[in-house]
Amino acid sequence: MNWKLAVIGDPIAHSLSPVIQGQIMEILGVSGEYKAVHVKAEELAGFMEYARENLHGFNVTIPHKGAVIPFLDEIDPYAQSCGAVNTVRIRDGKMTGFNTDGDGIRAALQQMGADFAGSRVALLGAGGAARSICRKALNCGAESVRIFCRNLEKGVLLTGGDSRGEVLPFSELSAENCGGWADIVINATPLGMEGIGQDFADFSFLDNGKPFVCDIVYKPAETNLLKACRERGITCKNGLDMLVYQAVYAFMHFTGLSFDPDTVARRIAADNPTQHSWL
Ligand code: NAP
Repeated sequence: MNWKLAVIGDPIAHSLSPVIQGQIMEILGVSGEYKAVHVKAEELAGFMEYARENLHGFNVTIPHKGAVIPFLDEIDPYAQSCGAVNTVRIRDGKMTGFNTDGDGIRAALQQMGADFAGSRVALLGAGGAARSICRKALNCGAESVRIFCRNLEKGVLLTGGDSRGEVLPFSELSAENCGGWADIVINATPLGMEGIGQDFADFSFLDNGKPFVCDIVYKPAETNLLKACRERGITCKNGLDMLVYQAVYAFMHFTGLSFDPDTVARRIAADNPTQHSWL
């Protein structure tokens, strides 16, 4: 099989997906092509028609993660609950949507020795990525998910009415109700990201405990949040593992091939020891 795959978005030139998917194919000895395609909102319907006839699958990034849903024939229940699709599989003209961000963050946490099951999760932000993370944490048996966000209504939407969800204003991020409370802290805001020009005012919210911390931002490789974790001896990681694992799970959906995702993700990490060559 010669897999024909793509990623769509606007903008798309910055996407690391072609590099990662290329590495996955190389590691598995699978042949195919994976192209980045710049698709503007008004071009989406045309692309979907093209994809149905010509591709085996594609990834979806901003701003199309919700917009592709009406074009699909089927959607996986988790992706439906996220209101966002990042992976579309095409078989015999039938399009099925998935969202692999949740499996990506779960696997990334597991690599650190953390698990949503039975954990108290502090989630910073209430945007698209936070929604996928919140739904996965609740699905995987988190004891509670405390969302810190500026817009409380958005936070409430994330929990989907689950009684284990709690929403606090971002301004209430503190050692007492975050670092001292949580088993896992996940930053799903763009704070600290290169080019954003905004960062956390201070990192005292990490104090009073030793939670596992995952900053899903991956550029720079070490954000100030991660630096603050390192200085405090807190186990932490950036968003690259999540990015790699979501790609590995997407490839499984595209192809139906069965392989050990950890082996492939570890090979990718080993082939990019500093990770900086990507960033
Ligand atoms: P998004 O939908 O725009 O959501 C961003 C969230 O951050 C919103 O809740 C927003 O609050 C909040 N926020 C923004 N600036 C803030 C500030 N100054 N103070 C407090 N909260 C703030 O973005 P997204 O798609 O979820 O992505 C979020 C970050 O995750 C990005 O940096 C993205 O690159 C990264 N990401 C990484 C991966 C990965 O695989 N590692 C995957 C997806 C995303 P409002 O709603 O109030 O604006």
